[in-house]
Amino acid sequence: MKNYDIIIIGGGHNGLTTATILAKKGKKVLLVEKRNVLGGIAAGEEFHPGYFTSGLLHDTSGVRQDVIKELQLEKYGLEFLNERADVTILSSSGKHVTIKADENATSASIAKFSQKDAQAYKDYKDFLNKISRVINDLMDNPPPNINVDNLTMASLVVLAKKGLKLKGLGNKTMMELLKVAPMSVADFLDEKFETDFLKAGLAAPALYGSYAAPRSAYSTINLLLWECASRNHIKGGPQALINALEKAATAAGVTIRTSAEVEKIVLEESGSIKGVRLKGGEEIYASKVAASCTPKETFLNLFDDFEIDYELDFWISKIRSRGTTAKVNLAVNKIVELNGQNIEYARTGNNFNEMEKAFDPVKYKEATSNPFLDIHIPTATDSSLAPEGHSVVSVLVHHIPYDFAEGWSEAAKNKLGEDVLNILEIYSPGIKKSVEGMEILSPEDFEQRYTLTEGHIYHGEHFVDQLITRPIPACLSYSTPVNGLYLCGSGSHPGGGITCAPGSMAAAAILK
Ligand SMILES: Cc1cc2nc3c(=O)[nH]c(=O)nc-3n(C[C@H](O)[C@H](O)[C@H](O)COP(=O)(O)OP(=O)(O)OC[C@H]3O[C@@H](n4cnc5c(N)ncnc54)[C@H](O)[C@@H]3O)c2cc1C
Repeated sequence: MKNYDIIIIGGGHNGLTTATILAKKGKKVLLVEKRNVLGGIAAGEEFHPGYFTSGLLHDTSGVRQDVIKELQLEKYGLEFLNERADVTILSSSGKHVTIKADENATSASIAKFSQKDAQAYKDYKDFLNKISRVINDLMDNPPPNINVDNLTMASLVVLAKKGLKLKGLGNKTMMELLKVAPMSVADFLDEKFETDFLKAGLAAPALYGSYAAPRSAYSTINLLLWECASRNHIKGGPQALINALEKAATAAGVTIRTSAEVEKIVLEESGSIKGVRLKGGEEIYASKVAASCTPKETFLNLFDDFEIDYELDFWISKIRSRGTTAKVNLAVNKIVELNGQNIEYARTGNNFNEMEKAFDPVKYKEATSNPFLDIHIPTATDSSLAPEGHSVVSVLVHHIPYDFAEGWSEAAKNKLGEDVLNILEIYSPGIKKSVEGMEILSPEDFEQRYTLTEGHIYHGEHFVDQLITRPIPACLSYSTPVNGLYLCGSGSHPGGGITCAPGSMAAAAILK
């Protein structure tokens, strides 16, 4: 039996971040991961013999630079692209536009089909550039205390500073931000742009992981958060981040155990943390535990019934985490092009009506046969992920319900795979007959493989109420009502995505 200062549950990128920061501050840290590999959702996998993904997810542009510096991840091999990666918005009519880091180049390519939208894009980026200081101040810092029953002078000062930052935008920009934030992303973009497929592609990130369609109120907030947080992509994708984090954790002295599933968080008689019990019965002791699995998994599955306070249990059970994303990985025996171009990142959507209709069935536990796709062809820049001359096509499929009434049988998954191939065939004629292998992961598979409650990719929906007090008011600042228990995963502020942000802010809260 060993004792540690703190045990971290889960070796995703946030668990690794928390563990490493604490170990660098001299704490004796154990990290336990239930799978036989580190990385959580960010881990690369071989899904067909000889074909690898660079992680389940695509976008790595949200990783916080301050965490990279603090953990010296570049010393451990992490490299960034010089800028945000290009993303191509595809239209089923054959048109496409590539959104580049260079706004003028993007605007020039939009001008080929709409002069109005070319100027609107510049104005849109100008607005984003102005507000990003305020948005990133909210996302890069611990959440302000907005508990009116317990407002200290220090928390009032923090709130006042945030108000001043907002005012510092100037009246025009501040009023625009206050006006657009509650809008639906369709209304917001309809006011600015005229080209349907462009609007659909720009709106898509607002809907990733959302139980919302383009015409749902408040969806603009998610778009603003995504756009403002996006910086440079990581070379080698999410797996490259995990490799560097693992090296940094080991160098800092973190003890890492994989294939070590926590079956229960163990409490002292007083109700404070005593440690964890692993599957198989081994108990390990520490007065602090930080859980990077979902808040629902932590409180509802790792404690016995009636062990935690009823009110806490009630509010945790009310966290909304209805998964709406599936994944299709394709092993293709040729170099895949989209609309005749060598493209790494692409989005489909076509128009708001199609996207809205794709979401409608989700409400009735049904699935669309025309989902919108977020496509990544990692072999476009890293040929080592597939045999020479072949491609990996990784597709995030949006608006696919976790609680599919028909059930996620093999037949249902095969139908989903077939639907995705039919859509891809529009942009890459002939792809269907070149597919050598296909992995289809339903939201239910996400839950089983990655312990994602209800298959939700962000450990809980990014809707405005669940962003302001994430995951619930009682656990807002990474500590919880259980003495010694902390949350350090994507279920906490500022939410999901590959950012390392919840992990680093939780470490700061623990050290405090
Ligand atoms: C399909 C998909 C696509 C996505 N696409 C993007 C994207 O493009 N860009 C982006 O920024 N974000 C994306 N996300 C979201 C992002 O991946 C997550 O928010 C983030 O990776 C979660 O990291 P984490 O470290 O907080 O948690 P996780 O990666 O979920 O790690 C938690 C770890 O805890 C382990 N664990 C759980 N229970 C136990 C237990 N009892 N004992 C021990 N270990 C346990 C799990 O095995 C897991 O390894 C996507 C997510 C998914 C699923």
